[in-house]
Amino acid sequence: MSFKDLNLIKPLIKATAASGYTEPTLVQQRTIPLVLDQKDVIVSAQTGTGKTAAFALPILQQLFDKQNAPKKGKKIRALIVSPTRELAVQIQQNFKTYAQFTNLRSLVIFGGTSIEPQIDVLKKGIDILVATPGRLLDLHKQDYVNLDYIEIFVLDEADLMLALGFIDDVKKIERLCPESKQTLLFSATIPYKIEELAKTLLKNPERVDV
Ligand code: AMP
Repeated sequence: MSFKDLNLIKPLIKATAASGYTEPTLVQQRTIPLVLDQKDVIVSAQTGTGKTAAFALPILQQLFDKQNAPKKGKKIRALIVSPTRELAVQIQQNFKTYAQFTNLRSLVIFGGTSIEPQIDVLKKGIDILVATPGRLLDLHKQDYVNLDYIEIFVLDEADLMLALGFIDDVKKIERLCPESKQTLLFSATIPYKIEELAKTLLKNPERVDV
């Protein structure tokens, strides 16, 4: 199977080639069609399987497709919540790479560092926000982050999120997004507590196990 077989648009196929990818990994083959079909999806996949591209590529495609919507550019339309700063930074680097032939813009925000540069970029407008929970809630409270226009919400490393005690924050964040959004949940393992969380966050989810 090739990236073309997944019906990805040219700017994204070009980006996968520029990254040196010859074919989609298993998690990408299974997840990308579901995300493009606007389904909610629970994916159990370890880091290293190519799971970041499994959500980043179809998210970029959906935002690109609808890029001619009115007043483009000022609204955050995709939100990815990640438990640690390191993971959040990696995810945004992936988005940057895969978006290099589009004009979609992303930003990563995390705590433990100066807030002003993050505010400056938020003011200019971005399409995709990657965030750790605490800083996200902080910037939302200060009115620098508006989640009213989120179309796709991703919870990455949900099991780690649980282990680090972020689940209440995650639920709070989810409730700040529109009800109509598409939700994707990624986790290395899916223990009972994650199943329970998924029930509160996702609507009729499809499941991918890799
Ligand atoms: P992840 O599981 O998202 O942390 O990705 C692990 C590594 O696999 C990253 O360095 C990606 O750049 C790389 N990768 C993602 N998709 C592919 C692919 N289709 N072919 C080769 N490498 C890939």
